[in-house]
Amino acid sequence: MYSTDDSGASTGLSRRSFFRYAAGASALASIPMLTEPHLALAARPKFADPNIGIHIDANENPMGPCDSARKAIIDIVPRGGRYLFNTDMELTDLFAKQEGLQGDNVLAFAGSTEPLHYTVLAFTSPSRPLVIADPGYEAPMWAAKFTGAPVIKVPLADPKGEAKHDVKAMLAAASNPGVIYVCNPNNPTGTCTPTADIEYLVSNAPKDTVILIDEAYIHLCDAPRSLNFVKEGKNVVVLRTFSKLYGMAGIRLGFAVARPDLVDKVGSFGGQNALPITAVTAGKASLLEPNLVESRKKIIADIRMDTLSWMKSEGYHCTPSESNCFMVDVRRPGEEVQAALAKKLMFVGRIWPAWPNSLRITVGTKEEMAQFKKDFAAVMSTNTAGLKPPALPARLAAHPHTHLS
Ligand code: PLP
Repeated sequence: MYSTDDSGASTGLSRRSFFRYAAGASALASIPMLTEPHLALAARPKFADPNIGIHIDANENPMGPCDSARKAIIDIVPRGGRYLFNTDMELTDLFAKQEGLQGDNVLAFAGSTEPLHYTVLAFTSPSRPLVIADPGYEAPMWAAKFTGAPVIKVPLADPKGEAKHDVKAMLAAASNPGVIYVCNPNNPTGTCTPTADIEYLVSNAPKDTVILIDEAYIHLCDAPRSLNFVKEGKNVVVLRTFSKLYGMAGIRLGFAVARPDLVDKVGSFGGQNALPITAVTAGKASLLEPNLVESRKKIIADIRMDTLSWMKSEGYHCTPSESNCFMVDVRRPGEEVQAALAKKLMFVGRIWPAWPNSLRITVGTKEEMAQFKKDFAAVMSTNTAGLKPPALPARLAAHPHTHLS
């Protein structure tokens, strides 16, 4: 089993045992290293065939990969019999150049979940807690179970307003945290934490605490990026993914961006693995697409703003999201509304125990959101009392922390 010493260095987890556990977890079996797809799936009713109904429950991007990424994948398929080792580095060098970083600041993985987990594995331990926001993305918690690190959840500040990370409370939560996790914009609220607050956190954290800044959704908003901390040599690991704006969730590509010594520690858990050349080539094509970020950001923002203003006109409070998801307060148990919507084959996202009367809604296509509005209005005008989502699969329910908390 994995352990860390007080410095946060890994001591007892062999690559083999880690992958054995990780493989079990991905089947929702022995160890719960769960991520958004697992949690979204667990919240899905059993009858929810992904091809039936509307799924705005997993913060996916219905646009999929851009045209040049699709073409790049098709073009590289005939070379699929080769490892093409250099392509991984071409990708990370391209990203580094675009962002004014050095190549050894960037390591690519099959999505950002891996480096997210690895950062927690590398820097937390029973004496070095993990501090996260609540409601927030839970994936780091599952990795903390491996290290035996205490997990301290800090409520978001101003929940009915900005719903931002309470950085002062996060700093005060533990005297020597291994990792403080900031998701910006936050999943599930879609809200951003002001740069000044993130700067305060980075400047005031204990010297060897790693600030893990998850920028999975950063392309969807105008908030300043956190890569400057890396350039300044701070104890910061920034995560990026191609799963959201770039529409490559199923193709799998992401980055850890950090000082080279931090990149090496995070990478020591699995960063040596060759990546699928399809993902790498699609990633390169996406990065080279000149207006992709701006144009997709606008498409998603327009649909989000339309949905949020409709919600407001109907009298519902939503978090002021700048991302592709938001939380709506349904003023009754969220699970009832979720279950009633599911009966209409409208599958919306999860519920966080800290906000039991709220549901996470992913921003889908214009047509999907038009249908969502109809179904939501219909459900909210009915009595949903007593409706329950289906029980969790037995294997999930068997693990106390695999409940959706
Ligand atoms: N970080 C956050 C905040 C997420 O919501 C997700 C997925 O939904 C991820 C990371 C993981 O994304 P992936 O592994 O697909 O890059």
